[in-house]
Amino acid sequence: MVSSNLKSPYNDSLFYSQLYVEIIVAKKIQAIRGMNDTLPEQTPVWQKLESLFRQVVSSYGYSEIRMPIVENTTLFKRSIGEVTDIVEKEMYTFADRNGDSLTLRPEGTASCVRAGNEHGLLYNQERRLWYTGPMFRHERPQKGRYRQFHQFGVETFGIGSADIDAEVILLSARLWRALGIDKQVELQLNSLGSNEARALYKEALVVYLSTHVEQLDEDSKRRMVSNPLRVLDSKNPDIQALLVDAPKLSAYLDDESAEHFAQLQKYLDAAGIKYVINERLVRGLDYYNRTVFEWVTTSLGSQGTICAGGRYDGLVEQLGGKATPAVGFAMGLERIILMLETLALNDDVKKDVDIYSIVVGDGADIAGFKVAELIRTELPMLKMMHHCGAGNFKKQMKRADKSGARLALIIAENELESDCVTIKDLQGKYEQQSVAMNELIKVLPSYF
Ligand code: ATP
Ligand code: MG
Repeated sequence: MVSSNLKSPYNDSLFYSQLYVEIIVAKKIQAIRGMNDTLPEQTPVWQKLESLFRQVVSSYGYSEIRMPIVENTTLFKRSIGEVTDIVEKEMYTFADRNGDSLTLRPEGTASCVRAGNEHGLLYNQERRLWYTGPMFRHERPQKGRYRQFHQFGVETFGIGSADIDAEVILLSARLWRALGIDKQVELQLNSLGSNEARALYKEALVVYLSTHVEQLDEDSKRRMVSNPLRVLDSKNPDIQALLVDAPKLSAYLDDESAEHFAQLQKYLDAAGIKYVINERLVRGLDYYNRTVFEWVTTSLGSQGTICAGGRYDGLVEQLGGKATPAVGFAMGLERIILMLETLALNDDVKKDVDIYSIVVGDGADIAGFKVAELIRTELPMLKMMHHCGAGNFKKQMKRADKSGARLALIIAENELESDCVTIKDLQGKYEQQSVAMNELIKVLPSYF
């Protein structure tokens, strides 16, 4: 409703003030910046991606878990880390009506571990889980970066050996192959080592950075104090140049982590998965240890990471559970869809309609309804749209064309009299033909 303090410029005239109110009421309300609608033309490619992902995760025996979109703010602060970009500046945090601080989830791992602990799913067990859904981060919207975006994720619990690290990577590689984008993505790998090894490395890095403080940009100066590993992640070429002579994380790896990393590479080599080791790959969340990886493409400009993950052996305990090794990843669906569009790989996506039925003349509407229902019962894999709202033949044919259907089924006077249906191939591959009503269900599949 229009709020009462809106002043009409035409207060004297009831007529004009009503007109003024109507104009205000009619103003269109728009979606929130960075939060997108997925329109009917776009949903088929989303559905294709979703169904391929489900197929791939189930072929590895993973189970789905669904978590709420809103969690207590502490969950993310404690898991992602207080001095990460996400917690410092990207979370949608608000007070609930009773004053609790809640946050729209910026990622799925923390919620998954919270749910696992809460329901005793992780205690002394192995789990291979997957999830999907919207995530929320208050970032500057741009191509491939939104405020509401969607992820697929997998999380595995209870297995500390490198074979499971390799498994989740193989699983993601299988999805790229299924989508036909495997040639356009590169796997980058690194090992962050144990917490102790990383702490030693951090010290050495800070010593190096503080001897070059005058060459650091503001961001890196801040990170040097709050989260020094993130300096390695800097996009600034001057900082990257400065890092060439910085101490290397690999030199600080503890023996067990080095062995774990070597094992992982053996598994990947054996499976024929190519990778590059990126010593500066650190990831923006605090909970990772040992393996970290990203799948990166150059076909999306600067938003090139389509999937990122790694090992987080400390998180379950940090969130109140029993120490449990874990490894997982999350992929950004919008970026994958953008890739499919850029590479024109969305053309073969199934249309929403296969058959459109047209009914002209008295009694044809009832007969048409029946035929349409019969087809849905007997051939449920076909998408059958029946024309509603009458109209002449020409108008109905236009609708049939617009629907994208492969076939038009025509029922008019002639067909009613001879108890048959006319099939018109809208792609013009086959001649138009009349088929007896009781033959229709047998004939239709041969078109598809
Ligand atoms: P980036 O470096 O691009 O900000 P990130 O390290 O913050 O990514 P993660 O938290 O690892 O991202 O999330 C996993 C994946 O989710 C990313 O690799 C990316 O594909 C996707 N993603 C992350 N943030 C966004 C966003 N704001 N919009 C769209 N996709 C996103
Ligand atoms: Mg980010």
